[in-house]
Amino acid sequence: MAENVINEPEESKGLNFVEQIVADDLRAGKNGGRLNTRFPPEPNGYLHIGHAKAICMDFGVAEKFGGTCNLRFDDTNPVKEDVEYVDSIREDIHWLGFDWGDREYYASDYFPQLYDLAIRLIKEGKAYVDDQTSEEIAAQKGTPTIPGTNSPYRDRTVEENLDLFIRMNAGEFPEGSHVLRARIDMASSNMHFRDPIMYRIIHHPHHRTGNKWHVYPMYDFAHGQSDYFEGVTHSICTLEFVPHRPLYDYFVDELADESYRPRQIEFNRLNLTYTVMSKRKLLQLVKEGLVAGWDDPRMPTISGMRRRGFTPRSIRNFIDTIGYTKYEALNSVALLEYAVREDLNRIATRGMAVMDPVRVIITNYPEGKTEMVEMENNPENPAEGTHGMPFSREIFIERDDFMENPPKKYFRLAPDAEVRLKGAYIIRCTGVEKDADGQIREIYCTYDPDTRSGLPGSQRKVKGTLHWVAADTAVDATVRLYDRLFNVENPAAETERDFREMLNPDSLKVINGVKVEPFLANSASRGAKFQFQRVGYFTPDYDSTPEHLIFNRTIALKDSWEKVQKK
Ligand code: ATP
Ligand code: MG
Repeated sequence: MAENVINEPEESKGLNFVEQIVADDLRAGKNGGRLNTRFPPEPNGYLHIGHAKAICMDFGVAEKFGGTCNLRFDDTNPVKEDVEYVDSIREDIHWLGFDWGDREYYASDYFPQLYDLAIRLIKEGKAYVDDQTSEEIAAQKGTPTIPGTNSPYRDRTVEENLDLFIRMNAGEFPEGSHVLRARIDMASSNMHFRDPIMYRIIHHPHHRTGNKWHVYPMYDFAHGQSDYFEGVTHSICTLEFVPHRPLYDYFVDELADESYRPRQIEFNRLNLTYTVMSKRKLLQLVKEGLVAGWDDPRMPTISGMRRRGFTPRSIRNFIDTIGYTKYEALNSVALLEYAVREDLNRIATRGMAVMDPVRVIITNYPEGKTEMVEMENNPENPAEGTHGMPFSREIFIERDDFMENPPKKYFRLAPDAEVRLKGAYIIRCTGVEKDADGQIREIYCTYDPDTRSGLPGSQRKVKGTLHWVAADTAVDATVRLYDRLFNVENPAAETERDFREMLNPDSLKVINGVKVEPFLANSASRGAKFQFQRVGYFTPDYDSTPEHLIFNRTIALKDSWEKVQKK
């Protein structure tokens, strides 16, 4: 709880509603003028883009006002949690560009203090052990308009409650046989006040505390107190916790005084079209082998997006665009894709790859000759320089960049038509050779030697520009094309259907025999970002090796044709 230096924002304008609350609290000198947020993931799965929204808020607001943000693993359910998830969560937050320094905490660190508080509440008659089954307890809950019924165990003596709770934790009872409940009000209009469960028995070993505990606190009994023990001032979470807030305050009241108390603030979740965001469903996709793993590039996980080639900046820009409100919304995945394209356009290294190659023979070009043409690495950033690309007598172009009987206004290659090979010469088609099925096997062309860039003829105008690679030096690669994982706009809304029925059967297409220029093959290190000209944005997959290159298509290029044509 070190004193933080707080930056007073010059103006309140431009702040989102959470930042506004924080600014007001700081100005009012609450909590001694401290600001401390926390991001509280449960280590029961990998983080997804929804978590990224929470991370940007929790760390972002702390950064903005010069406060601190804790990383707190909310590890109160040993059955579902695992260190694999802890490690992935750390990696993903760092990748997004945030750091918690030495403020890494675990709800399990507070088990002793929470247990002591439970004992105190029992002694004060504010908690009791209930021997009923969860079904019996649920049946007594009532409804928002009908009050609940008191448990027959509600008025046990303090001594009996203490004895039972201590024995629950000693492992004397089976799971499900007893719970510890807060003794509040079974008629409260807030259902969360109807004697909420504080502790349940779990005999599964915990990834940090082993077999030390046999009772584990529920979220509502752990979260606010953990915030308090850590010195958190603003506990920012999503809207589904609004009805929990009075209970959060109720338990915090047992600990806090005027000098310091954490407060809960809620914002709207991120929901994306054509995506499921529930960790339970994502786990199911992984466990049932419906995707290749948590980091499958089709997954909405941070690790999947990283593997697919999304950048942290694009994710953060997207989250800035959608903003934070008090209303649930469904955000279009197209907005995220837009942010990805925008960032990749800025940083991706340009290269040439031919996805569906057909051979072109330039009959008037000397056999055995190779010349290097100069290609810009990134027209958005000339400082990135150029690289050489070999040109020779036989090249590959895309099969669909040639048409034997083209319609009007077809600006690509056709019999007797001219096109420019990007960065090289203008060629004219003189004929084709077909195989027995009528498929085009080879295209014959002549080139105009005067049209290479730098030469006077390079100014000559032709309508179409094609990408290409030299045949003898091209490197074979496999490309993985991804599409939306679901073919329904809002899978979560289709409550009648199993979400697995809504999976898009064409979400992954694998293309072999793609031809890439040598420069791409030589620069295909992990994390590299490429634009295959006129095709899209690509990144080497983790499975890629120098012997077998594999590229993930991060995202298709829109408008690429138009753009290249103008050059
Ligand atoms: P679970 O069902 O396991 O609780 P969860 O997605 O809520 O799943 P947590 O690990 O509890 O996972 O989430 C950590 C934090 O991330 C919480 O503060 C939660 O509010 C926030 N969060 C989770 N999903 C989203 C989302 N879609 N949009 C914004 N924030 C989210
Ligand atoms: Mg949660």
